[in-house]
Amino acid sequence: MKTVSDFFGTMVFNDQVMKERLPKDVYDSLQNTIQNGKHLDLSLANVVANAMKDWAIEKGATHYTHWFQPMTGITAEKHDSFISPKSNSTVIMEFSGKELVKGESDASSFPSGGLRATFEARGYTAWDPTSYAFIKDGALCIPTAFCSYGGEALDKKTPLLRSMEVLNKAAVKILHLFGNEEVTSVKPTVGPEQEYFLVDKDMYNKRPDLVYTGRTLFGSMPPKGQELDDHYFGTIKPQIKSFMKDLDYELWALGVFAKTEHNEAAPSQHELAPVFTTTNLATDHNQLTMELMQRVAKKHGLICLLHEKPFDGVNGSGKHNNWSLSTNTGMNLFEPGETPSENAQFLLFLSAVIRAVDEYQDVLRISVASAGNDHRLGANEAPPAIISIFLGEELTEILNAIEKDEKIGSKEKEQMRVGVHILPKFPKDTSDRNRTSPFAFTGNKFEFRMLGSSASIADTNTALNTAVTHVLNEFYSILSEAKDFNATLHNLIRDTIKNHKRIFFSGNGYDDAWVKEAERRGLSNLKSTPEALKHLLDEKNVKLYTENKVFSEKELKSRFEILLESYSKIINIEALTMVDMAKKLIIPAISKYTKTLAETCKVKNELGVNCMYESMVNEKLSDLLSEAFKTTLELEKRRKEVSEIKGAYEKAHSYEEIVLATMNKLREACDEAEKLTAREYWPMPDYGELLFGIR
Ligand code: ADP
Ligand code: MG
Repeated sequence: MKTVSDFFGTMVFNDQVMKERLPKDVYDSLQNTIQNGKHLDLSLANVVANAMKDWAIEKGATHYTHWFQPMTGITAEKHDSFISPKSNSTVIMEFSGKELVKGESDASSFPSGGLRATFEARGYTAWDPTSYAFIKDGALCIPTAFCSYGGEALDKKTPLLRSMEVLNKAAVKILHLFGNEEVTSVKPTVGPEQEYFLVDKDMYNKRPDLVYTGRTLFGSMPPKGQELDDHYFGTIKPQIKSFMKDLDYELWALGVFAKTEHNEAAPSQHELAPVFTTTNLATDHNQLTMELMQRVAKKHGLICLLHEKPFDGVNGSGKHNNWSLSTNTGMNLFEPGETPSENAQFLLFLSAVIRAVDEYQDVLRISVASAGNDHRLGANEAPPAIISIFLGEELTEILNAIEKDEKIGSKEKEQMRVGVHILPKFPKDTSDRNRTSPFAFTGNKFEFRMLGSSASIADTNTALNTAVTHVLNEFYSILSEAKDFNATLHNLIRDTIKNHKRIFFSGNGYDDAWVKEAERRGLSNLKSTPEALKHLLDEKNVKLYTENKVFSEKELKSRFEILLESYSKIINIEALTMVDMAKKLIIPAISKYTKTLAETCKVKNELGVNCMYESMVNEKLSDLLSEAFKTTLELEKRRKEVSEIKGAYEKAHSYEEIVLATMNKLREACDEAEKLTAREYWPMPDYGELLFGIR
């Protein structure tokens, strides 16, 4: 039998394969490109391309594709075969360095937010040698960045790579101040925990709302939801187990370190967590994970729902972005150390994150904003839309002591001086971890829990990396000029805590009292996607991104347009789907049932039998029917009016304020009617069947 290590990463052109297949000098140059971002010249690219092609063909690949991550949030690919005709009507398989390094693509249908007029619709994709190439469905996939001809980023990967580069420079400079001269590179690492739902394929196909929008737009709660918590970490059903096994194998072959799989809180909800890796690779891997989850599910008669809120009244799905910084020497910068100097360094990086999160709350909130995620944030199941940091009791105590120049604990005789004393030990994975916190320190990393399940993790990590870079650069300018390094460092950390402690919160984030308290502290509470996005172009945020060269102002403006447009489009599709379902399925079904009730009543009357039940239900249903029909017409009208509004923000805002509100009204009437209608008349699988349908 094959063991996991026999096939782990077999479909990846990884370091080991490169070492085996490339001449030493080419391998070394490529490593230089990968580690230090040095230019790779075409003759070397030719050698790499050829080795890649031979390897891919041996694995059965016939095509290659530049694999990129446009603003749609999903990945894109365009396949070309390796085939090249020869004069004697045979073919040879070819793949050049030029084809590896750069591809052209007619990109006019990808969102560009006005960056690309249609007459210059071409974009190009450029190889990102820091992400490994891999084989998927018989095609060699080459991870690439996607840009316009003017060089503007049209994807999510380019800004992420830029943010990693500036963060690297900023962090290395600081580490050198601490005497860590051997550190030449610092990379952010990420382990994203991914939540998802699985539903029966045949039931899914009978729900136009799931098919068109990924979430149920109608549906009343079954007698049982998640209140018993009997699904969380419960026994996994055989059909799900065989799906998970298949998924693991496919992911492992692609070098994705899928590690833990378990049932989540809601019925039919599950989670997959990989082992963390460098952020750009983690981003690729998470995209592949989402894609494969959907594909593998189908093979098992299931559909994987990645929507943030597929069902009203049960928990939605998110993604936890576990983030840390690691050096080429194997140091985790958020691991408290053993010596005074290591601890001082830990506290400095910790302070940088604290300040970054406080100063750029809105930037982080924007990075997770989407129509789907709006249903989660603030709904007592995911963190509220307010950003705060949870540090745990022990660390909070230490920071308080530093801030107030007080002694720590009772045993310590002296005040703790940063850079002079060591930190008292604090337990790592403390069990009292606060699960309602949006941004929690979990011993040696931070866990940002606001991301939606379908989001690309690129956006959040770009935001986080850039904000931390900005603060590290400011810290560097203070520390590099210090006469007394330890004293300056101590004061810097103390002042940072003093100025930004309003962001610390260890209480219950689901509590209404927190909303008031946060307001008192001046923390931002951006409830919806349009409200959040409005702040993307605030002066301080434009400055953050442009000064650090992660986005140009033009690119930011284009993203603002794209994100708002996408929000409006999603609500528009949902509204159209609701109108369609109400008119063609739900209203006719209720009408049919009321007809049956009326007929029964008539017969009973003729027989002189009491028909109180039929007439009462009929009356109630007929009222709801009129209400549903009137609201359907209202929704139709409102949607049309709003769709004609000019201006991306005004339009998105109106979709939220007017269209979404009318959709909720329509849903309410229909869900109420569902509860009164005989099951055999209801025209689609109900919540109970969808949520508990898998045996
Ligand atoms: P929980 O569900 O308790 O939050 P999990 O074990 O499911 O914890 O997930 C923790 C995630 O954090 C995993 O993906 C793990 O690889 C990741 N992780 C651990 N250490 C680091 C690190 N240094 N940098 C980034 N991610 C990390
Ligand atoms: Mg978690």
